[in-house]
Amino acid sequence: MSIVIIKDRKNYFKILNYQREVIFTTSIKLEDISMVYGVNGKSHTALSNVNLDIKNGEFISLIGPSGCGKSTIIDLISGIKVPTKGRIFIGDEPVIKPGPECGIVFQDYSLFPWMTAYENIFFAVEHANKSLSKEEVKKTAHTYLDLVGLCKFKDAYPGTLSGGMKQRVSIARMFAMHPKVFLMDEPFGALDSLNRIFMQDLLLHMWSEGESRNTVLFVTHDVDEALLLSDRIGIMSSTPGKIEEIIDIPFSRPRCRKSLSGTEDYIKLKQYLFSVLYCEMQEIIESQQAQKEAL
Ligand code: ADP
Repeated sequence: MSIVIIKDRKNYFKILNYQREVIFTTSIKLEDISMVYGVNGKSHTALSNVNLDIKNGEFISLIGPSGCGKSTIIDLISGIKVPTKGRIFIGDEPVIKPGPECGIVFQDYSLFPWMTAYENIFFAVEHANKSLSKEEVKKTAHTYLDLVGLCKFKDAYPGTLSGGMKQRVSIARMFAMHPKVFLMDEPFGALDSLNRIFMQDLLLHMWSEGESRNTVLFVTHDVDEALLLSDRIGIMSSTPGKIEEIIDIPFSRPRCRKSLSGTEDYIKLKQYLFSVLYCEMQEIIESQQAQKEAL
């Protein structure tokens, strides 16, 4: 299957004969989170007093300058890292270790290099859902590889795939595991623009523009991507990282990138986001200069 720009999403997924699974959804709560790393004997406060409530089925993006703690937030929610202070809840349950409710897509693909694309997905699905028969796991792995357009590459090892292809495998793996929560850390950064459009549309479909939705936390540097996908956008600042502001994105769904990007509201919001990010960058550059001068 070659990559196509999806003009009619519903029809496209019908062609693939893809039936959406029942979605189990949940909320996420970050309560007064701080995270301090130890670096060369010194401590570095990556996050300070971060509070965030993500409702059932909500799609929130985080944007902010490099190093402001976006990936750390993803790692903390997934249970990969433990906060220095504060508590995190998925639904009513406190997060104490990684669990099957969170599906993660990292920036660096994180596929097992000794497994083929298909085996990577098979392995993840088998471990995430132990009640499935081998046949069901096989079918699921094939369905999701097909959805991201990589059927022909099912027996390819990650080392032989392009960055974009590897990322599509890791996205397919997350979808195939049917987690309640999608945690996505700049998942489309490595993709060329056509694949990026395809994957954004696929994500919107998987997340569902219908009644029942996964809860998504999405990290991106791309303001247009955040505006197209999100219900709300959290703007972060650095040193120490915190969420400065959360803005509601008022556009109705389903969203059409072409008509949306020309609207007055879209242009205003985009300009606002750029101006906030620009101020953030200015502050970082000025503080770096001040540090240099103090040496
Ligand atoms: P972002 O995703 O916004 O670029 P990160 O969450 O990756 O930011 O990092 C936030 C800050 O914490 C950065 O200053 C980074 O250098 C630091 N940091 C991240 N992970 C570690 C770690 N394992 N050890 C020490 N410092 C870290």
